[in-house]
Amino acid sequence: MYTRSGELVIISRVKFKGKWKFIRSLRFRITLMLVIIGIIPSIIIENGIVKNYEERTVKLRMATIRNQCDILRNQLVKTGYMEDPTNAVINGEFDMLTNIYGGRLLIINKDFKVIKDTYDLDRGKLMVSQEVINCFNGRETSQYDKKNDYIAMTVGIQNTETRELQGVMLVSVSTIEIRAGKDILEQKGFFLLMLIMFVVLILGYILSGSLMKPFQKVTRSIEDITDGYLDESISVPDYLETELITDAFNKMLARVRSLDESRQEFVSNVSHELKTPLTSMKVLADSLNGQENVPIELYQEFMQDITEEIDRENKIITDLLSLVKLDKKAADLNIELMNINDLLELVVKRLKPIAARADVELIVDSFRPVNAEIDETKLTLAFSNLVENAIKYNNPGGWVRVSLNADHKYFYVTVADSGIGIPEESLSQIFERFYRVDKSHSREIGGTGLGLAITRRAIVMHRGAIKVYSKENEGTTFSVRIPITYTGGQV
Ligand code: ADP
Repeated sequence: MYTRSGELVIISRVKFKGKWKFIRSLRFRITLMLVIIGIIPSIIIENGIVKNYEERTVKLRMATIRNQCDILRNQLVKTGYMEDPTNAVINGEFDMLTNIYGGRLLIINKDFKVIKDTYDLDRGKLMVSQEVINCFNGRETSQYDKKNDYIAMTVGIQNTETRELQGVMLVSVSTIEIRAGKDILEQKGFFLLMLIMFVVLILGYILSGSLMKPFQKVTRSIEDITDGYLDESISVPDYLETELITDAFNKMLARVRSLDESRQEFVSNVSHELKTPLTSMKVLADSLNGQENVPIELYQEFMQDITEEIDRENKIITDLLSLVKLDKKAADLNIELMNINDLLELVVKRLKPIAARADVELIVDSFRPVNAEIDETKLTLAFSNLVENAIKYNNPGGWVRVSLNADHKYFYVTVADSGIGIPEESLSQIFERFYRVDKSHSREIGGTGLGLAITRRAIVMHRGAIKVYSKENEGTTFSVRIPITYTGGQV
């Protein structure tokens, strides 16, 4: 990269700074995204499986117990247990049932009195709970208490012939082992989840690394170019995105190259132009120094030539300085509301002596009074250059016509001459710095090749435009268009 003073500075390799550089990387974000995408469905599936297991097991348990109770109640009715609860076979079955399921069984008769309690705690007591009442009213209940880990059920003891309710069986069964099963399942699910997360993390890291490789290639290629291989261009066609980035970069590189070339050309042109008058001066001075008894007339003649060369050198430097000043930002413009008719009159007045010397007639046509927001110094310079060229590249007895017109938005200045004209193939180049159609002729009449470059820059800074029409041996017309109100902004 070039600094303003023109030195080439090698940029050190691009490095990310800061503590959180990995977190800010695309690789981290891709990995994170993959982990989230992998983990969320796993969590949902795991929860679904655990919940389903619990529901199904509880349902199954309830069905089994209800089945057992159905068998028992038939036996109770058949054996007349409700009248005499001492039947050893039935009591044995009760014990077996409660032992197997880790539960408690109560038999309540029509008077809400507990006639059997497998825990032997409430026998003989009254049991008037809502569930029991509901059961006597024909609504058997079964409920699962998740918090306290048990299932409670009421089963009506009904005479199969008379359909009369003789009592209620109240069964409560522990579901601790269902919860244990659920805990184990949850634990296993958690470990599986951790495993999935770990695998996804590793895979995501590896995958994102390989996904990012083309981008690293792009960075490396750009760094290589930054390190000095300015002549190359980069190509990473692995992804569409990398292709777009490299294409954009190559475009920028081409622009940098062309800027660099024009800078080099400009520097070499400047050196050459500045050297020419110096060389002439040296030749003149040397030839005087190398001769003895030089006549005073020759001295005077050579000194006159040397003065002309100094003037020339001075003009080139002045023009260069004007150009450098114009190369600065548009913000440096000193905008004022000016009468353009007066400005052009002044330009023409100043150049009248030169025109008279060249035997060229200078005419100004102002079609209307025009006031516009402009930088007086810069536009005076621009128009002076155009009129001066029209006089310089004219024929004796020729004319130069400067005209001014305007509409509501722009004012238009044309500088037409009856001069030597510009060959068609040169028209596109005359605004370039140091370009001259006929170098020796231009030099003879004191041209530097910078005049039109200065003119165009000054006009463009005003957001205006300049065009040229020319025919060899017939004449040339430059037409300029500039906004009446300055619109500002960098150009
Ligand atoms: P110079 O200092 O040589 O005049 P300019 O940048 O003003 O440099 O012009 C560039 C070249 O364009 C001139 O050398 C000349 O060949 C040509 N040119 C400019 N104006 C005219 C004109 N009115 N008629 C013919 N040729 C012109």
